[in-house]
Amino acid sequence: MTEDPVLVVDKLTKTFGARTAYSDVTFSVGRGEVFGFLGPNGAGKTTTVRSLGTLITPTSGRATVAGIPLEADNAVEIRKRIAIMTEAPGLYGRLSVTENLQYFVGLYHLSDGARRIKDALEAVNLSDRAKDTCNSLSKGLRQRVGLARTLLNDPEILFLDEPTSGLDPVAARGVHDLISGLRDRGVTIFFTTHRLAEAESLCDRVAILNTTLRTIGKPSELREQLFHKSLVVTTAAPLSDPGRVFTGLPGVESWDSEGSDAGRSTPGRSDAAGSDSGGTAPGSYRLAVGDPAVAAPEVVRALVHAGADVLSVGESRHSLEDVYLSLVNEDVEATQR
Ligand code: ATP
Repeated sequence: MTEDPVLVVDKLTKTFGARTAYSDVTFSVGRGEVFGFLGPNGAGKTTTVRSLGTLITPTSGRATVAGIPLEADNAVEIRKRIAIMTEAPGLYGRLSVTENLQYFVGLYHLSDGARRIKDALEAVNLSDRAKDTCNSLSKGLRQRVGLARTLLNDPEILFLDEPTSGLDPVAARGVHDLISGLRDRGVTIFFTTHRLAEAESLCDRVAILNTTLRTIGKPSELREQLFHKSLVVTTAAPLSDPGRVFTGLPGVESWDSEGSDAGRSTPGRSDAAGSDSGGTAPGSYRLAVGDPAVAAPEVVRALVHAGADVLSVGESRHSLEDVYLSLVNEDVEATQR
């Protein structure tokens, strides 16, 4: 359980007839956290957002949103404390930016509308486009108007469904900056995305959903759970007998040569462990290690002892994308939706 949770989800399930959108999903999100919800197409992300945002009713399970139990009778109270931006920002194209926001201020029965609109436009850096019709704005700017709309009611939790979908890198960066700014103001942000680098750089924690929740944690924790620590070693030429160099070294659990057969021990040459001076292509090896700081000096010493010209020894870094692909690729269902 997260400290000071603002969102608690307990065994939540949603089915549409025979089709299960998501099943038995349990997690919590802390106040002020940026929480990323990842998963392949059809994994149930949007349906989860719509359920937590009171737009559809879950089939079973429980949840508490902004401290209020997710029940039909509480929908209005919950909606006062949250905001949702679906993939399309849902604006009236022929109305100006301000007119759109005025419409939503009225719809939400918010007091002090002029101040709220001014603050929201300033927050998304759109004050100078307030009089323009939404039809005349680029997709990136319309997305920012959509974000301004979500800020009108000063939400505790902001649900953003693929907020950077279809945006160019500069416009996406603008949305990232906004998310960071909102986090600094204490807003809890729950967002779905297919951009793994974006989740990795913005999120305190991520969850990977594929109908059921596959994993949840800080990106760095997920990398460590799934992958051994490893060192990548390159030498000026392939080692003629890498097994003799690496096997049994303190801290080295196993090794493999990267790429081609370069470095595999050559029959009849058991005397030569050092680099094969006849070759010009570099040798590359991946070593599974317990602690890179312990293993790396041992590896360098062994390579030098074997007469190898060492080009580099570095810790290999796995990205959140590696974690995601390792979890989702093995799932046959995910590739059939
Ligand atoms: P994407 O990344 O493609 O947006 P998603 O993870 O958001 O996908 P959902 O849109 O939540 O996935 O869909 C989950 C499953 O629920 C899909 O199989 C979808 O067809 C199904 N589903 C969603 N809404 C409905 C509905 N109103 N009626 C029937 N099935 C639905």
